[in-house]
Amino acid sequence: MTGTPFGRATRNAARRRWTLRVQEIVIVGGGFAGVVTAVQLIRHGSSSVRLTIVERHGRPGNGVAYGTENHTHLLNVPAGNMSAFCDDPQHFLQWAQEHHDAKTESTSFLPRHVYGKYMEWVFQTTAESSPKAALHWIRDEVIAIEDSSAQRIVRLASGTYLTADRVVLCLGNLRPTDTAVPGRNPSNSSRYVSYAWSESAINDLDHAKSVLLLGSGLTSIDLVLKLRASGFRGIIQVLSRRGLLPQSHKTVRPWTLFWNETLPRTTPALLRLVRDQVKLAGNKGSDWRAVIDSLRGVTQRIWLSLPVAERRRFLRHVRPYWEAHRHRVAPEIAAIIAEEISNDRLRLCVGRVTNYCEDDNGVSLTYKKRECASMEVIRVDRVINCTRPDTDYRYLDDTLIRYLQMHGLGHSDPLFLGFDVALDGALINSRGQPSTWLYTVGPTRKGSLWETTAVPEIREQALILARQLTKKHEQPSCQVRRIFSTAILER
Ligand SMILES: Cc1cc2nc3c(=O)[nH]c(=O)nc-3n(C[C@H](O)[C@H](O)[C@H](O)COP(=O)(O)OP(=O)(O)OC[C@H]3O[C@@H](n4cnc5c(N)ncnc54)[C@H](O)[C@@H]3O)c2cc1C
Repeated sequence: MTGTPFGRATRNAARRRWTLRVQEIVIVGGGFAGVVTAVQLIRHGSSSVRLTIVERHGRPGNGVAYGTENHTHLLNVPAGNMSAFCDDPQHFLQWAQEHHDAKTESTSFLPRHVYGKYMEWVFQTTAESSPKAALHWIRDEVIAIEDSSAQRIVRLASGTYLTADRVVLCLGNLRPTDTAVPGRNPSNSSRYVSYAWSESAINDLDHAKSVLLLGSGLTSIDLVLKLRASGFRGIIQVLSRRGLLPQSHKTVRPWTLFWNETLPRTTPALLRLVRDQVKLAGNKGSDWRAVIDSLRGVTQRIWLSLPVAERRRFLRHVRPYWEAHRHRVAPEIAAIIAEEISNDRLRLCVGRVTNYCEDDNGVSLTYKKRECASMEVIRVDRVINCTRPDTDYRYLDDTLIRYLQMHGLGHSDPLFLGFDVALDGALINSRGQPSTWLYTVGPTRKGSLWETTAVPEIREQALILARQLTKKHEQPSCQVRRIFSTAILER
């Protein structure tokens, strides 16, 4: 399936043979979404599919999230809800009990590298048992996908190419954009790190000096843990507009959403629903966490029911609060962060950056305080950008995404949260038509689904897409069936 300058006749003959019997699918990206989609395709397609995953770096199923070696980087979802397969919910828990720690419970928050090992195991066992060597892994970067009438040509950065009947994009989250800060430009910001996950983000940092993290979400929490694990003893300052740190998980009495199934059509109505439920849950000895968790199964449906203007309103006013309460950290991590704050080793600054000034000895960063609008200057040795991933594909510096947009194969959704996609994940082309061969799974579907970054959502998308692409028209799960019917009513 790989194209090289030699052996073309043999290859063409082989390709003709394959296309008669076997569907060739290329999956771009080998993180969680790529691997679980491939595995579900093998499970459902068996001998009728031949799959190639192309991953530019990293190990199968790892990506940014599970590729970390740091023991303090814990999963933010309990083990009992981290199975790669929605049709086998105990899969990860049982694997962890067998391969990691027999005492693992469904409520345990395991190190993320354990999950990375699990996903590698899932990939390896599938590859070894798949019929006719149906699953392949290629270390390369996809830079273009040409749509010829018969097949697609998937171009790789190494100069070779693959042919495919269908392509599934599992690109994950993309890098954050640098917040526009007056006074900062590439020529005067050697102490500014754009990408928190880069190898060099905390290298060569004097262990006794000071660091400022921009953004107070999960990336900043990870960086705090990484800095301390590396021996960094200095002060860590975290600056964000609202100063909202991710909340902590806590074992609470489960809550079943109690409502009359009328979907809220406005952001205030949605907030009312949540507040009413929190009140009811509190009265019954539960708390807001259980309500937020109970929304998981209907969040996509609610999102689809909101008109675009209301989704925009949600993003403007509610998003930071939603993210801090929805994407929580393990209690162990929350305790570490609380201790850092109480010992004044971690300081939270709330406001908006107004100026960046770098000299030979450090950076002076001015910000406007949120509560009193006065100016404050922070002096640090390094600034690390920990803001959320960029989702506005119009301006992203990504070769493949640029190519897809230039050739009309894909474009941003109306809220610039990801690709404009149909409900089954097919990319909508520049003529407004859903593709019959180009699909996406994972965070790239945020515009249409909102909740689509974590394992429980992605594994469901993978299963449904696998069923669809292997043309086994089995019934989708109840949740998905409801989303589809709602969306049809909306359109
Ligand atoms: C730090 C962190 C912690 C998280 N913790 C949890 C958790 O505990 N529980 C949970 O459910 N979710 C968690 N998440 C959410 C996480 O995003 C998902 O669980 C999952 O990893 C997403 O998988 P993905 O495959 O979509 O993205 P990724 O894992 O990011 O994989 C995408 C892959 O695509 C590759 N790629 C992109 N473009 C190309 C190209 N053109 N050619 C070749 N390869 C390409 C990238 O190199 C990357 O490896 C976490 C996320 C982060 C960032």
